[in-house]
Amino acid sequence: MSRVAVVTGAAGGVGSATCDVLEAQGWSVIAVDRRPVDREGALQVDLADAPYVMEVLRRCERVDALVNNAALQLFKPLEDTTLAEWDAVHHVNLRGAFACLKACRDQLIEAGGAVVNVASVHATATSHSISAYAASKGGLLAFTRAAALELAPHGVRVNAVVPGAVDTPALRDGFARRENAEASLIASTPLQRIGRPEEIAESIAFLADNGRSGFITGQSLTIDGGALAALSTE
Ligand code: NAD
Repeated sequence: MSRVAVVTGAAGGVGSATCDVLEAQGWSVIAVDRRPVDREGALQVDLADAPYVMEVLRRCERVDALVNNAALQLFKPLEDTTLAEWDAVHHVNLRGAFACLKACRDQLIEAGGAVVNVASVHATATSHSISAYAASKGGLLAFTRAAALELAPHGVRVNAVVPGAVDTPALRDGFARRENAEASLIASTPLQRIGRPEEIAESIAFLADNGRSGFITGQSLTIDGGALAALSTE
C-alpha cells in the first residue's frame, strides 16, 4: 500500500508541484485547498474554519506525511492592517498548520510519519508592508521546532522548508505591485534567478521521506538561491 501525504494549498504553485513530485515518487496524495483541485480524493475546505478542517482530516485513515503549505499573503503597512486582516493571515498560515497537525497527529504517530511546514525567507529577513505574513512565517518556524520536540518520542519528524522567491501566481501578483520588481529581485539573488515550484517540491518530498531524511527533525531548509546568505547592506 502506498504512503499517503496530505498537502494543503494544493491548488497553488508550490502545492500543485508538491503533489506531482510526491505522486511521481509513489505517494498517494490528499490534496487540500479552499479552491477546487482536480485530483482524486481532493478535499475542498477552508483552513480558516479549523473545527471543520479537523473533523474532515481526522477521518483520513492513513497519513504518512502532512505538508502545511497553504498561505495567505497580505501586503499592507501595519497602520493600515486591521485586526481582522491580521487574524485572517494567522488563521491560515499558523493556526491552520496547527489544526492540521492536531487532526493528523494520531495517524502520523501510527505511520511513524513526517510533517513539512512551508515557511518563507520573510521569517528571517523581510520587507516593507508584509508584517502579518512575516510574523506568521516566523511563528511557523518556532512551531516547527516545538512540535518536533514533542513528537520525536512518538517517532514523528517535523521540519520546515524556507523558500525565497518562487515562480508562482502569488509571486507574479507581487511583481505587479512594484515597477522593475522582477529584474531587481533577480539581480540581487546570488544565483541570479527565481526558484521553480518543483525545486521547493523536491525538498519537501525529501523531508517527508523517512528513507532519505529519517534522522532530520526540528530543522529548516532554506531554498532561496543564496538570498539570505547575502548582506543587503553591501
Ligand atoms: P499560491 O497562492 O499559489 O498557493 C497558496 C494556496 O493556498 C492557494 O491554492 C490557496 O487557495 C490556498 N489557500 C489560501 N488560503 C486558504 C484557506 N483558507 N484554506 C485552504 N487553502 C487556502 O502560493 P505559492 O506561491 O504556491 O505558496 C505556497 C507556499 O510557499 C506558501 O506557504 C507561501 O507562503 C510559501 N512561499 C512562497 C513563495 C513564493 O515566492 N511563491 C516564497 C516563500 C514562501
